[in-house]
Amino acid sequence: MLFRRLSVLTSTRILPWALALALPVSVAAETAGSEGEKTPETMVAALAEDESVEDVEQSEPRVKEPGAKSGSAKKPPTEDVASTPKPASQTPNKVAPNIDLKDVAPPPKPSPNTDSASVTKPAQPAAEAKVSETTPTEDSEVRPGEEPVTAGTENLTPVPKPAESFTLLGNEILPGTSTRLAWSPGIQIAGLSQPTPILVVNGANAGPTLCLTGAIHGDELNGIEIIRRTMYDLDPEKLSGRVVGVPIVNLPGFQQGSRYLPDRRDLNRHFPGSPDGSLADRIAYSLFENIIRRCNLLVDIHTGSLKRTNLPQLRADMNNPDVATLTQGFDRMAVVHSSGSSGMLRNAAVEAGITTVTMEAGESHRIQEHQIEAGVNSLTSLMERQGMISRMFVWSDPEPVYYDSDWIRAQHGGILFSDVELGARVSEGEILGYVADPITNAQYPIRSSSNGRVIGMAVDQVVMAGFAAYHIGTEAEIPGE
Ligand SMILES: [Zn+2]
Repeated sequence: MLFRRLSVLTSTRILPWALALALPVSVAAETAGSEGEKTPETMVAALAEDESVEDVEQSEPRVKEPGAKSGSAKKPPTEDVASTPKPASQTPNKVAPNIDLKDVAPPPKPSPNTDSASVTKPAQPAAEAKVSETTPTEDSEVRPGEEPVTAGTENLTPVPKPAESFTLLGNEILPGTSTRLAWSPGIQIAGLSQPTPILVVNGANAGPTLCLTGAIHGDELNGIEIIRRTMYDLDPEKLSGRVVGVPIVNLPGFQQGSRYLPDRRDLNRHFPGSPDGSLADRIAYSLFENIIRRCNLLVDIHTGSLKRTNLPQLRADMNNPDVATLTQGFDRMAVVHSSGSSGMLRNAAVEAGITTVTMEAGESHRIQEHQIEAGVNSLTSLMERQGMISRMFVWSDPEPVYYDSDWIRAQHGGILFSDVELGARVSEGEILGYVADPITNAQYPIRSSSNGRVIGMAVDQVVMAGFAAYHIGTEAEIPGE
């Protein structure tokens, strides 16, 4: 469904903006020609937005009784969640080899159909992976049922509970090991049956299962690297809990540099999916049933879309106490309240009892070192806060910054030139940039609506009137205080 009906109140102002966002422009074009007369209802292309504009704007307001909401902030985040395996438990067919994730992997072999409906057949993908000779531990000698010998040298936290085996995609991953599996949504169309790598680190000690998903939009690259770095630095012997990374969920989109699936659908509008729906529904379903349901905590990593860039930030439903608590572990992240939209992985996962936030970092099509570092640091901070890892040096408590936010839209079409940079602190009325009309030479300033910080903005480009150009965050109360 690329197109849907959208009622427009004052069509002339809003329509060009819709057009600017719409990818296949053609359809709505003729309706735009009206010289100011009202068009009660207009067909426009569905807005291909992430959580960038509409979802934040249309978000249900944050409930202003933080004490009640996130009083749970004090509850120790780890243990209890940890041992509660999520509903869809799976039966392992074989033990996954312990491999050092830093090793170069052989190209993945086609994996068996991992559709959750069918029990996975004995899988070979990970088995083919070379068992690392350089792995510091000899985990491959730990047999199922045998208690893994946890190094008594840990002088960390309260007595860690030894972990159990973890079963994913038909593989048993022993405690204290890491491995690389392959997920294939089992959609037998050329290019779609290609297996997607899944990285798993099962810590030696019990703890929560944290999942990281990247590139649900295939052109959003920073998350892929954030997940790679985060996971490759984990030492299974020192980890409490598990980390499951899906660096590239939308592999076909990634290969084509496209945000979408090959059928032009936005995968992040189809969760939790369905086994007999559209292509997007099926892929979403397979991911959700096979992997997402195995998680306690989920961070879905995105970037700005449509030539917009985001300061590293979380989108989180602050009305959900568990989610609000989770955000407190992310260091130096802007946290923007957003209740999200139906079909998003974040919403579907929260509904399934998995505490989830979206992380946004930078812009699409780019690898941005700064943004990646911020993402990795923040996830490391989260894992520490969750009791999963222990950092050698801890400077202070994590410091997320909470924002209420507003999008400022261009009132005129033309070429946008920004005077401010991402992250800038701005005051009300300050000029953020100009839209220059290349035909008339007119210049229209865009001003900040409030005192705050530029937490997201459009890169310089041609814009239509109504284009959401600047996302201004104003510091909000810290939940629980
Ligand atoms: Zn995205």
